[in-house]
Order: sequence, then C-alpha cells, then structure tokens
Amino acid sequence: MASHIIIAIDGTSASGKSSTSRHVAKHFGYIYVDTGAMYRTFAWHCLNRSLDLQNEKAVGAETRKWKATLDCSNNSIRLLVDGKDPGQAIRSAETTAAAAIIAANPKVREWMKLQQQSCARFGNLVMEGRDIGTAVFPDTDYKFYLDAPLAERSKRRWADGVSEDLAHRDRSDSQRATDPLMIPLGAMVINNAGMTLEQTGKIIIDEVNRRMQARKY
Ligand code: C5P
Repeated sequence: MASHIIIAIDGTSASGKSSTSRHVAKHFGYIYVDTGAMYRTFAWHCLNRSLDLQNEKAVGAETRKWKATLDCSNNSIRLLVDGKDPGQAIRSAETTAAAAIIAANPKVREWMKLQQQSCARFGNLVMEGRDIGTAVFPDTDYKFYLDAPLAERSKRRWADGVSEDLAHRDRSDSQRATDPLMIPLGAMVINNAGMTLEQTGKIIIDEVNRRMQARKY
C-alpha cells in the first residue's frame, strides 16, 4: 500500500483524538486527516438530499452519485462537496446523529476506506478515526488508541458547549457489524484521563520516535 508514514489515532468520541492528532501532525510536519469529518460531510449531504438514512441501498448508492473531492490545504485534508467546504454545518447535533447511522452502512464504509487510503498520495499522514488502525491502514507500525472514562469525556463535550449522549454513540460505533471501533492489534492504548493534549501528544510523539528507531535495526 502506501510508502508514506501513517500515524493512526483511533478512539472513543471526545477522547481528544482531534486536538491530539493536530498537535502530533504539527510536530512531525505531517498532514492531518479527520475521517470523522468525512463521515459527517456525507451524513450532512444525505440530510440535505432528504434521504432516508435507514435505507441502506439508497444511501450506499449515493456514494457513487455525489460530487465529492479530496482537498489538501494548510496541511490538512477535507472532503469538498460540489467544490465547497460545508464548514461548521457538519458539527450540528442532527449531523452528529446522522453520521453514526450512515457509518454503519457497509457501502459507505467501503467508499470512505478507499478515499482515506488515497489520502496517502498527499504525503505522510496523521489520520484519526475509529477504524484507521484496524481497517484503513492495518499495516502501519504507528497505531494509537485513545480513551478516557465516559464521565470525563462527557464533561469535555459539555465544556465545548455540546450536550451529547456519548454512551449511545460509543455503543453504535463499537457494535456495528462492519469495522466496529476496537483497539487495533499493536496499538498503544492511552487512557488520557486528567491529561492535557500536550501530555497525550508527547506520549504519542515519543512512542512514534521509539518505533521509528526500532525499525532501523
Ligand atoms: O470523530 P467524529 O465524532 O467526528 O465522528 C463522527 C462519527 O463518524 C462517529 O461517531 C462514527 O460513527 C463515524 N466514524 C467512523 N469511522 C471513522 C470516523 C468516524 O465510523 N473512521
């Protein structure tokens, strides 16, 4: 697959994946990819098209119809729809709930996986999500899994002004049949309860450096 370096950061919702991944990407000068934003963008598009999200066939077929392109700018990759970035619209409560539904659709996952793998053409990546180390780049040597107790994760969301039933999303992400959220083989598991993003980031950066060094011998 890719000859580029891929740092895969998976984990539960509100486990600090986004901020930590951005921090790690900046440190190494790699490109940051938020795959959750890609699922959210497709969910937002399906809502705009008034598709019945439970209709697996129609939603799966939409991946072949919509005009989505990958854009790499400012060292991060996003999906543009009809050439435009949907911006903060993908962060609404409605889109968040819709994303977890369409993410269980095998055809959608298949499409997303191909897009996410093709991101490696842009360079070395820090890619965050739920299945990066298990399904998208299972061969990478740099896998991490972030988690924190539910109460702390809920508090973090609350501090961001978002009230969300994270237990429900954890369940739907880890119980779906296709590529469920799980700890990838060979991943370093980090429970970052009480840690700052810099502390979590440092653990990852040190471990990546250690694994890179180990590969040389
Ligand atoms: O990470 P974020 O909260 O933005 O992800 C939104 C939703 O997209 C998740 O709840 C999950 O259902 C889905 N997702 C996924 N696989 C990924 C990234 C996100 O199933 N690699």
